[in-house]
Amino acid sequence: MKVFNFWHFLVVAAVFLPLERLFALRKEQKILRANWRLDLVYTFLNGALITVGITLIIVVAGNIFGSVVPARLRAAVAMQPLLIQLIEAVISADLVFYCAHRLFHSVPFLWKFHAVHHSIEEMDWLASARIHPVDQIVTKGASILPLLALGFSDPVIAAFAFIFSWQSYLLHSNVRIKFGLLKWVVASPESHHWHHANEREAYNKNYAAQRSIIDKLFHTLYLPEGKTPEKYGIDEPVPRGYLSQLILPFRHNPQSSNSELEASGSVKP
Ligand SMILES: [Zn+2]
Ligand SMILES: [Zn+2]
Repeated sequence: MKVFNFWHFLVVAAVFLPLERLFALRKEQKILRANWRLDLVYTFLNGALITVGITLIIVVAGNIFGSVVPARLRAAVAMQPLLIQLIEAVISADLVFYCAHRLFHSVPFLWKFHAVHHSIEEMDWLASARIHPVDQIVTKGASILPLLALGFSDPVIAAFAFIFSWQSYLLHSNVRIKFGLLKWVVASPESHHWHHANEREAYNKNYAAQRSIIDKLFHTLYLPEGKTPEKYGIDEPVPRGYLSQLILPFRHNPQSSNSELEASGSVKP
């Protein structure tokens, strides 16, 4: 989980700033591109909100689910080798993430939260922070619940959170790093850039955060050969201020009709 940590931020910046210069997908894109200040505010303020929300979910729901799942099953899961546990954890968490993410696209009220993330018009590692805290708490909280309920070991949950966080930076970064044949199994910058593309053929595609094979299974994988998105973002208006974006889902917007959601790529699949 992304938690506010200044040193963590510096390490991520030290990795991705040079990476984006060396392997730039859009060479003309500046480091200090439009709305970088907004994404910096998200990086520093969202972390605290999200930590509180996810901790609450972990304590309350984790205990409830943990008591429902038979102790013998939880013990059997925890006794497996750590690598096997990690593979199982990533797949089960990503399955839940896929469903939650798809719901945020298909339910109009939930889309109002997720529209904030899709207002990104220039992709880079910093833009990955622009997520409404309710969106982040629900999707990340939901994806970690099966890991707690099934009793995966603490090091496995920590490794999952680490991989999820760094993969999220990579997926949004302005890089042309190709995954080769692995792109059919593992989510890549290519797949997630298409998820953010403001192009009709890419709408409602590539929901998985870690394993693109889940999109393949549910027929939502979109990876056209030899093409890159022309533009990112959505057509509906999203305010540019942090506080305005936080209250956006709670404001009445007569323009948020189903036809507009369809135009911006958030139709019911
Ligand atoms: Zn999305
Ligand atoms: Zn994204």
